[in-house]
Amino acid sequence: MQVKVMQEGISTRYRTRMCGELGKADIGSRVALAGWVQKRRDLGGLIFLDLRDRSGIVQVVFNPDLNKGAYELAQEVRGEYVVKVEGEVTARPEGTVNPSIPTGEVEVRADALEVLNAARTPPFYIIENVDADETLRLKYRYLDLRRPDMQRNLILRHKIMMAIRRYLDAEGFVEIETPMLTRSTPEGARDYVVPSRVNPGCFYALPQSPQLFKQLLMVAGMDRYFQIVRCFRDEDLRADRQPEFTQVDMEMSFVEPEDVMMCAEGLVAEVVREVTGLSVRRPFLRLTYREAMDRYGSDKPDTRFGMEIKDVSGVVADSGFKVFSECIASGGKVKAIVVQGGAKFSRKEIDALADFVKGCGARGLAWVAVEGERFRSPIAKFFDEAGLARLANAAGASEGDLILVVADAPAVVSEALGRLRVHLARKLGLIDGEGDGGGQGRGQLAFVWVTQFPLLEYDEEEGRNVAVHHPFTSPVDEDIDLLETDPLSVRAKSYDLVLNGVELGGGSIRIHRRDIQERMFRALGMRPEEAQDKFGFLLEAFEYGTPPHGGIAFGLDRFVMLLAGRDSIRDVIAFPKTQRAVCLMTGAPAPITDRQRQELHL
Ligand code: ASP
Repeated sequence: MQVKVMQEGISTRYRTRMCGELGKADIGSRVALAGWVQKRRDLGGLIFLDLRDRSGIVQVVFNPDLNKGAYELAQEVRGEYVVKVEGEVTARPEGTVNPSIPTGEVEVRADALEVLNAARTPPFYIIENVDADETLRLKYRYLDLRRPDMQRNLILRHKIMMAIRRYLDAEGFVEIETPMLTRSTPEGARDYVVPSRVNPGCFYALPQSPQLFKQLLMVAGMDRYFQIVRCFRDEDLRADRQPEFTQVDMEMSFVEPEDVMMCAEGLVAEVVREVTGLSVRRPFLRLTYREAMDRYGSDKPDTRFGMEIKDVSGVVADSGFKVFSECIASGGKVKAIVVQGGAKFSRKEIDALADFVKGCGARGLAWVAVEGERFRSPIAKFFDEAGLARLANAAGASEGDLILVVADAPAVVSEALGRLRVHLARKLGLIDGEGDGGGQGRGQLAFVWVTQFPLLEYDEEEGRNVAVHHPFTSPVDEDIDLLETDPLSVRAKSYDLVLNGVELGGGSIRIHRRDIQERMFRALGMRPEEAQDKFGFLLEAFEYGTPPHGGIAFGLDRFVMLLAGRDSIRDVIAFPKTQRAVCLMTGAPAPITDRQRQELHL
């Protein structure tokens, strides 16, 4: 039988075309299709199969007058059977056009059917946005991935990776692979380790990032490196974390923060444009860490809406309200956000907000409703009218607004108001395109750079200072000498890229001199012998002519998740693990045999 070959590459013994691409232009042509049966309907002596492949669905009709054998075989076909059909593309009869699918104007009149494989009834429907338990979806991931929305997510991910490679190649970056079996790279998480059979008692660590290798590639003169690379961190997992995840990792020689940020920004904007058609406004908004904390109460500010935090300490310090004045006297802050039109909130709604801030660690929430020329508030009696007017003015409130005030230690105030602002924006629907995890809309894309993080922070558990970014990040030049005298006030040459309140990536200019790297290790409480033992190779490399360099890494999974408009990175990873780091499909991790254990000296 002669079958017209329409598309090179697709055409095999099984098929000449893809289901989802058939349309009016194909009417009259003969095709062979192969795919899965979405649905079978027996109607008035005809059998209809909806046939699905990666490209979509097309209706296939079996008429006993055309081929009795094929018609009879079609009666036995069930959902998810894999079949091959051949026939002619025809226009659907008047009144049977289905505008809800792209191939809805045509159908294939089949005269041949081959069942390539039968299928058991799947544990959930293979349909768009299926409402199935995620445990089941992960166990039968190959069925979950057969669903159109999951296929779209994986294809989007592929397109994003291709766009990244094209862009970086054109910018002179070279993709270089680095080892998976290596030594620990401190990115602040626990390592996954692999025992060495041939070196008893020794372990490799899986990389938390290729950080040291990419720096050594700069020492090697590679100038611009990138890699789309798997990283491993043994941390407690959340919706947007996986034990293994993918980073777009970059490093550049002879650069300052601005150079890396402009390059990364260009990459991100181009990828977004290529895969979504949206143009992103550049340059991205920039905030120093201090500004981000002051205005948004977070180092991952969501700038899709206003409601910025205002410091009202100055106008309430001398008020008769002791909670405020004593807080300020003891080094605390009094800050406020304003809900436009919030004066109409009920008492119950305001109480719920107070509970919310208590859940964030704050002692309480004070509120003032601006109603016409008057103020309504449980704390009104502690202020005179002019005092309340000054407060409203400092907070930026006008008639009909609600001022929400937290007085506490500065870090508590930031945390509470930062989270309250996002909570309120969600509640009031101020965020365009949010809340439809079904991948329909992705709304607005608000990119922000947050720069100059502190270099170090005190870790209670460890009882010492730890690196906020990682130990290879360079201090800001004018702060270097504070490393010994006032380490916690040293600012870093670091930058994080934030999208819609989610940290997308981060990087820094690195230390490239041995003496400064040694001072940094010392500031982290590392003894010289320990530094030598763990990072001797790096310190030594710094003595052989190391260029100034810096870089950045993005979380690819999160980026794809945001562009796909999904709420979980598991939806954009082919074979993800659960919150307990388990693969429900393969059953990993699993015990090993005694023999393996012995060989590995465990
Ligand atoms: N290695 C860093 C990280 O994984 C990124 C960087 O500094 O380039 O977060």
